[in-house]
Amino acid sequence: MDYDTYGSNAVELAIDLANAERDDTGRHDAERDDTEPDDAAGPSWAPAFLRAHAEWFTPGTALELSPRDAVTAAEVADLVRAVALAGTRAEVIDRLNELLARARPQPYATDHDGELHLHFAHPAAPALEQLTTTVAMGLSQVVAQHGWQRLGVCSAEGCDDVYVDTSRNASRRYCSNTCASRSTVAAYRARRKA
Ligand SMILES: [Zn+2]
Ligand SMILES: [Zn+2]
Repeated sequence: MDYDTYGSNAVELAIDLANAERDDTGRHDAERDDTEPDDAAGPSWAPAFLRAHAEWFTPGTALELSPRDAVTAAEVADLVRAVALAGTRAEVIDRLNELLARARPQPYATDHDGELHLHFAHPAAPALEQLTTTVAMGLSQVVAQHGWQRLGVCSAEGCDDVYVDTSRNASRRYCSNTCASRSTVAAYRARRKA
């Protein structure tokens, strides 16, 4: 396993999508701010997500999504999350296959970043298809090659973001350094109180 390039793998896009904050379809955690105004034009989180991850799409791909496409993107995000939450290998396989059923893989060799590598989606596919296929294939590849236990949910209190564990000894428990240090401080304070 090449730990150096692992982080740039398409699985990171999948994790980002699963943890994306959604405006209308509801965030998955309890910290959603209900005072945010509803966008009458439809969900804006999805095209905003695509723009923030524009490097994953073929240059020139239209990154605007219809409200209907945004709902589909949310379903894909939920499926990624379901794979990470699954507690058994059999359940991981079921959830992965649900996700893969939405993918339209078309392997494509490119060196757009200087390195020869494969993309999973047809370069001319619409943004939603590129997103779904890249996420489904990237996630499946990591699970198949490195084990389903590599995906998890953050152990920090009040955070339920998912992560992919790229550590050498598979010891990760938090979604981010922020959550890890927050939990360390909380545990330290709890010990001092006791
Ligand atoms: Zn690429
Ligand atoms: Zn976290």
